[in-house]
Order: sequence, then C-alpha cells, then structure tokens
Amino acid sequence: MSQTAMSETYDFLFKFLVIGNAGTGKSCLLHQFIEKKFKDDSNHTIGVEFGSKIINVGGKYVKLQIWDTAGQERFSRETYNALTNWLTDARMLASQNIVIILCGNKKDLDADREVTFLEASRFAQENELMFLETSALTGENVEEAFVQCARKILNKIESGELDPERMGSGIQYGDAALRQLRSPRRAQAPNAQECGC
Ligand code: GDP
Ligand code: MG
Repeated sequence: MSQTAMSETYDFLFKFLVIGNAGTGKSCLLHQFIEKKFKDDSNHTIGVEFGSKIINVGGKYVKLQIWDTAGQERFSRETYNALTNWLTDARMLASQNIVIILCGNKKDLDADREVTFLEASRFAQENELMFLETSALTGENVEEAFVQCARKILNKIESGELDPERMGSGIQYGDAALRQLRSPRRAQAPNAQECGC
C-alpha cells in the first residue's frame, strides 16, 4: 500500500524496552499500542518479542522500535517492590540518560488495587520517571504512554541533552532527518550505519 511506503520515511528511530515483572501486562501493552486491541490469549512471552510503529510527535515522524521482554516472577504488590531493581538495571545497562515512563497497568481492575496512585506518583517523582496509569484492556493511556515518552526524548534531543549520534543512545536519525542534515548549513551528516543493533 502506498501509505505503508510513505510511512517508512521518518525523522528519528527510538528504541524502547518494556521491562517489569511477569504478568504485569507488558506484552498486552505492546499489542494494544501496535494493534489497538486487547491481546486476550495470555501466552507468556518466550524470550523477546518485537513491534514497531511510526507516530507523529509535534510534526516529527518517530519510528518506535519496541522490545518486549520476558521474566519469571509472579505478580502482586511485589511487582511494585521490584521497580527499584528494574530501574537500576535499565540505567546501568542502557544509559543514565534514558527516558523512563512508569506504567501502572491494569487500571481497569481498580477494586484489586494494591498501590495507590499517590504512592506510585511519589515514587516516580523521586526517581525522575514519568508516570501514567494504563489499561491494556480498555486501551486507556496506552498510546499516551508511548507518545509522552517519545515527546520527552525529542525535547531532550532538541535541547542537546541527548545526542542521537552517540553510540548506544538508542536513537538514530531516519531518512527524513538525514536529508535535512545534509543541507549545506551542516558540515557533517551523521553516519546511519553507526548503531549495529
Ligand atoms: P507480561 O508477562 O508482562 O507480558 O503480561 P501479559 O501481557 O502476558 O499479561 C498478563 C495477564 O494480565 C494476562 O492474563 C492479560 O490478559 C492480563 N492483562 C494485561 N493487561 C491487562 C489490563 O490492563 N487489564 C486487565 N484486566 N488484565 C490485563
Ligand atoms: Mg509478556
């Protein structure tokens, strides 16, 4: 389809990782974001699954390359208690500068809530995370979570806090951005081959 061909032109590619304990709804969030529907067969993720989607953020086309991960843990309030470990791993293995959004998923199951909105908000604030309560079942705040995260990354690129040309930044220029950068105003175009991931 011509729309598909057109949509392959993007300004940036951002790599996202969905991490958290097993059973928290990571695969369902990814599925809801990509397919706009609830994945009701609860197949456990084997290894890593992958999805990608191009979104428009403030006029820029951003391709999100999203990696879903699998873990063995059981779920309950423990999933919240485990956040500190997940954060340490993410910042150590990826980068100190990564942008993180905390999703309190299964917002629709309010009667079974074990963590208050306030408590999770405070945790997010203390750890410099964005925070949204989501539901992969109803779709509430799912798109918003990915878009808000992408918007923050774009802002950090624009302010110079994040450098897409740095190896391991998880960000690459797309064709559209490369064309702009190749204008005579800029001496050097970034090397699109730089990241081997
Ligand atoms: P993962 O292990 O983190 O990938 O979790 P899954 O995406 O496989 O979801 C685990 C279970 O939670 C499945 O039975 C899903 O149907 C269910 N689930 C996921 N997200 C939601 C949600 O937002 N609301 C409700 N009610 N159930 C959900
Ligand atoms: Mg999964």
